Amino acid sequence: MTVVTRFAPSPTGYLHVGGARTALYSWLFAKNQGGEFVLRIEDTDIERSTDEAKQAILDGMQWLGLTWDTGPVYQTDRFDRYKALIQQLLDEGKAYKCFMSAEELDAIREQQKAHGEKPRYPGTWRDRTDHPEGQPYVVRFKTPLEGEVVIKDHIRGTITVANSELDDLIILRSDGTPTYNFCVVVDDWDMGITHVVRGEDHVNNTPRQINILKALGAPIPEYAHVSMILGDDGKKLSKRHGAVSVMQYRDDGYLPQALMNYLVRLGWSHGDQEIFSQQEMIELFSLDAIGQSASAFNTEKLIWLNQHYIKSLPAEDVAEHAKWHFEQLGIDVSNGPALEAVIGIQADRVKTLKELAEISRYFYEEYEEFDEKAAKKHLRPVAKEPLEQVKVNLLALTDWNPEAIQQAINTTAESLGVGMGKVGMPLRVAVTGSGNSPSLDITLNLLTKGQIEQRIDKALTYIANRENS
Ligand code: GLU
Repeated sequence: MTVVTRFAPSPTGYLHVGGARTALYSWLFAKNQGGEFVLRIEDTDIERSTDEAKQAILDGMQWLGLTWDTGPVYQTDRFDRYKALIQQLLDEGKAYKCFMSAEELDAIREQQKAHGEKPRYPGTWRDRTDHPEGQPYVVRFKTPLEGEVVIKDHIRGTITVANSELDDLIILRSDGTPTYNFCVVVDDWDMGITHVVRGEDHVNNTPRQINILKALGAPIPEYAHVSMILGDDGKKLSKRHGAVSVMQYRDDGYLPQALMNYLVRLGWSHGDQEIFSQQEMIELFSLDAIGQSASAFNTEKLIWLNQHYIKSLPAEDVAEHAKWHFEQLGIDVSNGPALEAVIGIQADRVKTLKELAEISRYFYEEYEEFDEKAAKKHLRPVAKEPLEQVKVNLLALTDWNPEAIQQAINTTAESLGVGMGKVGMPLRVAVTGSGNSPSLDITLNLLTKGQIEQRIDKALTYIANRENS
């Protein structure tokens, strides 16, 4: 048997982290089993589905690297198939037309509530044949009156639901559109889904879906209902807690590798291991090791993972994602050192790619103004001579590499009889515009002599203006 899993989002908003984690689990299980992963867009709710949301889901999945083998399949393209099967169930007497008006149904529900009963459709039209001509109707599924549905959920264990608890659910609305529960069933069947991994908010739908699958003569997939994600205050994760959209994490400077590692651990574990490469996740993943309790989102841990991946992934991989952030800031990275080289020396100074781009601007363009505090402190009249001298020594270098650059700085300090800091700090502020940078030898090495000359001159002008004012 080939394992086939799916992710089936409704395109009514962005791809949120809860959905992304479900998608990840579903994807990992397929990969672990050498199976296939289907992306299905559940857009039957035409009022609430938007093209932007569809695109946002595809963008989010692509950014995370959750590639699909089949899809995206859109449910709205499959209405004919759903309707044909509804007709088949009607013909077989496994579904029926219900002509009860909304008002009538409401009245019954009110009565039930008044008697302390669970509101449910009482099966009024289940066996009636006196169908009124030309009246609107819905089609309801004939839920078996007896027996029970037993679900062996990979996460939640055995769940047993008596059929007497379930009423005859609507599978075709009066406007002729099939309902969510019916479409899911047909799709899971047609797409050969062997394992349904989805949010626990669907656990109540599962017995209904199993009954329909049985009525259609379709095989029953296995189920794994994943718990919710909570915010740090124990409430359901929502916008109040900060970013919940996957693409917001991209915008905030997270690597997809970090978010994936974070999400896989949010509810799944393998001993006390925290760091998982994608290959390891695939090899080690199992549905049965997913925890039952809800998990709380912990931004600190995500930041920690992000830092880890920025530092430890090959610079090319980081560059692939960092480039976008430089572009967002309007920095042209084709005009300067290779991004990989900048990442090589800046990686351990940042938590996010956004920060990386922000603190690396000086490699690609002239900064506009000196950091005020740093300039006040280090670009003073006493720095004039060291700057002039170090400029001469740097420009005289024939080899341009960190050792030679360091040597030029050392020689300057020695010849002036001052400590290294008296040369280094003014030079740092002159070249980078601020008092913070990686060590000067590797920083200057990524710039050209021309840039350095120009920036030292700018610092000298600043000092001169200061003397005169
Ligand atoms: N479309 C449903 C949702 O977005 C998921 C249905 C399913 O996975 O069966 O919540």
